Amino acid sequence: MSDERPHRPRRGRQPSPATVREIYRRLRSALGPLDPPRRLDPLEELVVTVLSQNTSDVNRDRAYAAMRRRFPTWEALADADPHELADAIRSGGLANIKAPRLLAILRELREREGKSLDLSWMRRASPGKVREYLTSLPGVGPKTAACVLAFSLGRAALPVDTHVFRVARRLGFLDQRTNAARAHAVMEDAVSPALRVRMHVGMIRLGREICRAGRPRCEVCPLQDLCPTSPSVLKEHPTLRRPRRNGRKGVA
Ligand code: SF4
Repeated sequence: MSDERPHRPRRGRQPSPATVREIYRRLRSALGPLDPPRRLDPLEELVVTVLSQNTSDVNRDRAYAAMRRRFPTWEALADADPHELADAIRSGGLANIKAPRLLAILRELREREGKSLDLSWMRRASPGKVREYLTSLPGVGPKTAACVLAFSLGRAALPVDTHVFRVARRLGFLDQRTNAARAHAVMEDAVSPALRVRMHVGMIRLGREICRAGRPRCEVCPLQDLCPTSPSVLKEHPTLRRPRRNGRKGVA
């Protein structure tokens, strides 16, 4: 019966299904609606996700807008000179890496799909087929594939970016040996299909606002009593131990 109630997992153990549901419930309650951010055409989502790497949403959107002004059609973009494309997306960072990556993807898609680069067939395909297709493109990994599945196609996927990876490790979903490539399969095993996309949104927001890189702010975290990492963090910083509400100890 104890497995049916949310509890802090022992170190090295994953959260139980009841704990996963409670983590989701508290994220939603503490952070507000966890709706996914956008629903774009699959190709647009793919391109936006490549531009998102290692930058903020604002800079990604600037880079995307500048790129579309300079290359208004997919065909023009696929034929772009790499230096011109890098110039256009400079505001998104890592332009000299992202430009050749985008061109390799678009040119491969043109080989496979023809000039239209139409990926609308993905709306009718199984998630497994879409994932397999996307990860066979040059430079496309499981995170990018999961973003297209989750945000463009509305499928049950849980993209593991740097924030989700860090938070998932601290919460016990992933052990120290689990690398980023394997993390997607582990997270999707642990989180039920109905919760995956919103759990991704909640974990990203928690990672940006509270469970930050460096010292996590466990003292204000709504998951404090469910997290196997918080006792050691709070032990190192005893003055931050626990917020009190109405004289009772509890989560923030
Ligand atoms: S309790 Fe601390 S380590 Fe655990 S998820 Fe919250 S901020 Fe991160």
